[in-house]
This record gives sequence, structure tokens and C-alpha cells, in this order.
Amino acid sequence: MKITCCQTHIDHALDMFVAKQNTFPILTQLIDEEKLSTKCDYCDDPAIYLVANE
Ligand SMILES: [Zn+2]
Repeated sequence: MKITCCQTHIDHALDMFVAKQNTFPILTQLIDEEKLSTKCDYCDDPAIYLVANE
């Protein structure tokens, strides 16, 4: 499972991840190149964080 999200939605993303996966995710920041091409999963802002279990 992977969630990309903006600063506003990081708490929501973590909550969703823990609720669905029953484990804590690895939180990483996207590199600048990825930020430009990736949108938040919950709004139209550019994504800053990647929440994933790998
Ligand atoms: Zn967002």
C-alpha cells in the first residue's frame, strides 16, 4: 500500500494507513522531481510525503 500526500493530509494518510494495514508505515519525503509530478491522494495539492509499507 502506498499513499502520497501533502503537508495538510499527512495525519489523515497515517491514520488511514494504520487503520487498513494494522502496522505503522515508513514515511519518506518525495524528491523534488517526484513532488512536481505527484498529487496528494486527498486533494489537488502537490504531494510531499510518501507513506508506504516497504
Ligand atoms: Zn492533500
